[in-house]
This record gives sequence, C-alpha cells and structure tokens, in this order.
Amino acid sequence: MARFTDQVAIITGSASGIGKEIATRMAAEGAAVVIADLNMAAAQATAKEIGATGARTLAIAMDVTNEEQVEAGVAKTMATFGRIDVLVSNAGIQIVKPLHEFPFADWKKLLAIHLDGAFLTTRACLKPMYAAKRGSVIYIGSVHSKEASKLKAPYVTAKHGLLGLCRVLAKEGAEYNVRANVVCPGFVRTPLVEKQIPEQAKTLGISEEDVVKKVMLGETVDGEFTTTADVAEAVMFFAGHPTNALTGQSMVVSHGWFME
Ligand code: NAD
Repeated sequence: MARFTDQVAIITGSASGIGKEIATRMAAEGAAVVIADLNMAAAQATAKEIGATGARTLAIAMDVTNEEQVEAGVAKTMATFGRIDVLVSNAGIQIVKPLHEFPFADWKKLLAIHLDGAFLTTRACLKPMYAAKRGSVIYIGSVHSKEASKLKAPYVTAKHGLLGLCRVLAKEGAEYNVRANVVCPGFVRTPLVEKQIPEQAKTLGISEEDVVKKVMLGETVDGEFTTTADVAEAVMFFAGHPTNALTGQSMVVSHGWFME
C-alpha cells in the first residue's frame, strides 16, 4: 500500500514551485490533495494536472492571510473528503530590500503571509485533526529559519518564527496525536528565487551569475541548488512518520549550506 493511501493533505501555495511538487508526490503515494492557493486559475490547472494521474484533488481559492477564506477552505475540504491528515503550510513570498529602507507595508505583508498564514491554516485544521486524534503539520521554513542573509529582514524573522509555532503545536498537539515539524530548504530554483536574482544583483551591485554562485550557492558543499523533489521527500518523511517520536523538529535540506 502506498504511504498516504486514504489520507487527505492540504498544501497551501501549491499551485506553483515547492508546494506543487509536494502535492504531486503525495498524490502519487495515495493522498487526496487540496491545492489551496491565492491564484485560483493556477490552482485549478495544478489540480487538473495531478487529477489526470488518477488522484483525488480539490482546488481552493485561499489567501492564507484571510481568516474567512481559510476557514471556508478547510470546511470545503472536510465536506469533500471528510478528513484532514496532513497540513503543509507552504505559501510564501520573498521581498528583498535593505533593512534601513524596508517599507513598513512590505514588512507587514511578508509577516502576514508567512506567520498569520501558518497560524490561521493550523488553527483551522486542528479542529478536525483533534477530533480524529490524528494529524501532521509541516511548515516550510528555510535555511533562513536558522541563518540570516542581507536584504531579507522580514523573511528571516518570519522563518525563525515558524520554529516557535511548530514547537508550541508539538507540545499542545501531543495529547491529540498531532505532530508538527519544519522542513528548511536551501535555495530552490522556483519563481520565488528567479525573481530575486536580478533584484539582488541590482541591490548588491554584482552580476546575476555572482548572485547565484556566491550569494545563493557559495556556502553549499557542491554548488548545487536544492530541488523541489528534495524538499518534497523531506516533507513526506515527516508526514509519514508513524509516532510522536518525531515532533517539534526541523530538518535542513540545503546541500550543506547550513549544518547543525
Ligand atoms: P513560488 O512563488 O513558486 O510558490 C508560492 C505559491 O504561494 C504561489 O503559487 C503563490 O500563488 C502562493 N501564494 C502566495 N501568497 C499566497 C497567499 N497569501 N495565500 C495563498 N497562497 C499564496 O515559491 P516557492 O519557492 O515554491 O516557495 C514555497 C515556500 O517555500 C515558501 O514558504 C518559501 O518561503 C519557501 N522556501 C523557498 C525556497 C526557495 O529557494 N525557493 C527556499 C526555502 C524556503
């Protein structure tokens, strides 16, 4: 039997990039997957693509910072599939600017998507998970949950914050058999990263090639990008673990950029 047969997973921000890969791979291993994304057209296209493999899918328009949309999306998932086993809180953005001129509006926007989004989706999913006494929540952190880089003040702050949320949930969720863990990727070549390459080159006054080689991959053991598949494997490792032994943890998947 596949690892996630009969299970239901909600993955936020899964119309694109890392989230899409997680949804695709969990579906291949038997899960029904909910593609919850701000971009409904892209969510529907992803749900259709995954559904063509025979998997059960549901596309949901969800801004993770919007309490009503999150609650409605989780209610729709329950009405459609009747259970929620896994939440992958993945939706995220990046905004790069120096701290001394970071616009307050951008700071608030980034924190809201990463932190309010993680909180709201977690809280909504905990109701069915606690009732069923079963569940696994995985936050997509980053090497920036443990390490800082220039130009990324709110991102580094938010990604560090997810470790705290995860640890509280690990403690509170234990009596309901709900686990929480964080996967911390290095640079993955998704649209989120493609956008940063010219932006960082301009702000740092270096070439785009140097942004990739020196800033993004300079500290890795082999100069390689982490892939969406690498991240999805780590998510499934946490999601598939059968006991509370593996909770409140974080795992870095970064070609050795950050070691602990
Ligand atoms: P991406 O831009 O390819 O995908 C992000 C998705 O999130 C998009 O489909 C977008 O529509 C959606 N989204 C954005 N705001 C949303 C909102 N308010 N509500 C719902 N959906 C929303 O990005 P990605 O690289 O796949 O990033 C996914 C996650 O992985 C993010 O949390 C990011 O911080 C994290 N991460 C990425 C990297 C990397 O190098 N790409 C490294 C470490 C961590």
